[in-house]
Amino acid sequence: MKKIGHYSIGIGDRFAHEGEAQLKAFAKAKEAGVSITPVWNKSNREHTIIGTHPDSVRIEADAAVKKLVWAGDYFVDADHIGLATVDRFIAASDFFTIDVADFIGKSAPEDALTKWVSSAQSLIGTISLQPSGIALDVNADLIKTTGKKYLLAVREAGNVFRHIADKKGAGNFVPEVSMDETDQPQSPVEMLLILHMIAQEGIPVQTIAPKFSGRFNKGVDYVGDVAVFEKEFLADVSVVAYAVKNFGLPDNLKLSVHSGSDKFSIYPSIRKVLSQTKAGVHLKTAGTTWLEEVIGLAEAGGSGLAIAKKIYAEAYAHSAELAAPYATVLDMDVNKLPAPVEVDGWDSATFVGTLRHDQKNPLLNLHFRQLIHVGFKIAAKMGTEYTDALKEHRAIVEKNVFENLFERHIKPLFI
Ligand SMILES: [Zn+2]
Repeated sequence: MKKIGHYSIGIGDRFAHEGEAQLKAFAKAKEAGVSITPVWNKSNREHTIIGTHPDSVRIEADAAVKKLVWAGDYFVDADHIGLATVDRFIAASDFFTIDVADFIGKSAPEDALTKWVSSAQSLIGTISLQPSGIALDVNADLIKTTGKKYLLAVREAGNVFRHIADKKGAGNFVPEVSMDETDQPQSPVEMLLILHMIAQEGIPVQTIAPKFSGRFNKGVDYVGDVAVFEKEFLADVSVVAYAVKNFGLPDNLKLSVHSGSDKFSIYPSIRKVLSQTKAGVHLKTAGTTWLEEVIGLAEAGGSGLAIAKKIYAEAYAHSAELAAPYATVLDMDVNKLPAPVEVDGWDSATFVGTLRHDQKNPLLNLHFRQLIHVGFKIAAKMGTEYTDALKEHRAIVEKNVFENLFERHIKPLFI
C-alpha cells in the first residue's frame, strides 16, 4: 500500500519550472536530518486557468527526482478534485485530495443517516483524548446535527474514492479528504464524528484537511487568534490519534493544513504541537513558488524586472476578474494597490521589497502581494514570453524559490 510519510509538504508549481529548486530544499532538510516527503500539487482550478494537463505535473516531478537522484518517496497530488474533474488526473497522480466541501450542509438520504446515527451511539459520553488530555463531550443531539451536516459529504468522498480505486487499485494512491474550502470551520468534536463517518464509509484516508478557525488568505499570513488556533490544532491532532486507535483508520493518518501559503505566525504552534504529540503533518502550500518566480525576475533587473512590471500592470487592469475565483480567501483592498505608472518607475529593490514576504520590510504591501498571487493567469497568457524569462534568469529565480521554501517554511516548521 502506498503510504505518505510522517512529514510532507505540498508544493505548488504553477508553470512547472521549479521542480528541481523545490526538491533541493527537501534534500537540504534531509542533510539536516529531517525526512520530508515532497508532494507536487496542482488543482483542477489551476490547470484550467493555466491551460495545462495533469500529466505535466508527473513529468516535472519525475524529471526533478531523476536529475537530483532523489531516493526518497514523492507524490503527485490531484488537488481539490471531485467526481466531475478527477478522470484526467487518474493516470498521473498517486495522491488525491477529494474535495467535498460543496456537499456540506446538504442532507444525506434518511436511511443512511439513521444507520450512521445508530452506529455512532457508542461514542456518547465524555471522550478523553490522549496525549493532550482534552475532553470532548458527545451527545445524541450533536451526533444527529453533525450527521445532517456532514454525512452526505463523506458519502460523496466515498463515491470519489471508489471511482479512483476502481481505476487505480485501492492501495496505489494516498487519499485525502478536504473540507477546507467552506465558510464554517469544523470543531474538533465534529472532526471526531466526521472521521467516524469516513471509517464507516470504508475510506482508508491518510490525510484530512479541515477548515481551521481564523482566516487562511492567499499568500499572506494567518489572520486570527494564534492561541485559539494552537488549542484547536492540538485537539484535532488528538482526535486523529483517537480515530486511528478506535475507528481502524490507517496508522499514518494525519492532518493536512491547506495554508494558502505563508502562514508563518502559526508555524511555531504547529511545531510545538507536533513535538509534544509526535504527530505527523502535511502542509500544503499553493502559490508561494509562483510569487518567488516574479520576485526572482524583478531582482534580476533589466528584462526580468520589465516582465514583473508588465505582469503587475496587467493584473491591476484585471484585478476584479482575477480575484473572483478566490473571493473567500482574499482580503485585498484595490485602493491600496499602487498605480502601474508608479510601479513603472520602481527599481528592483523596491519591487522585490513590496512583494517578498519579509514582514520586517516596511515596503511590503500585502494587497500588491495578493494581487500577484492570484495573477498567474496573466503570466499564463504571456506564454513563452514568461517561461523564456524564467529560463533566462534561471539562477536568481531558483535561488528565491529554494530559499523561500527552505528558510521560511521548512526551517521554522521542522528543523
Ligand atoms: Zn484547500
